[in-house]
Amino acid sequence: MRAVVDKDTCIGCGLCASTEPDVFQMDDDGKAVSVADTTDENRDLVEACVTGCPVDAIHEEE
Ligand code: SF4
Repeated sequence: MRAVVDKDTCIGCGLCASTEPDVFQMDDDGKAVSVADTTDENRDLVEACVTGCPVDAIHEEE
C-alpha cells in the first residue's frame, strides 16, 4: 500500500507531514507528497493522516 496525495485538493496545511514525516513531505509547490510505502510500522500514523486531512486529499493505493 502507498498513500497518494491529490495535489489539486491538498491545501498545504502540513498536518500529514508533521504527523508522519517519514511518509509525507511538503513539496516545493507547498503541497504534500508521499515519499514512502505504508508499512506495518507506519500504518497507524498513515491512517491518522488519511482520516485527519481536512480536505480528504489522501487515499491509499495497492
Ligand atoms: S493533511 Fe491534507 S491538506 Fe494538509 S498537507 Fe496533508 S494532504 Fe495536504
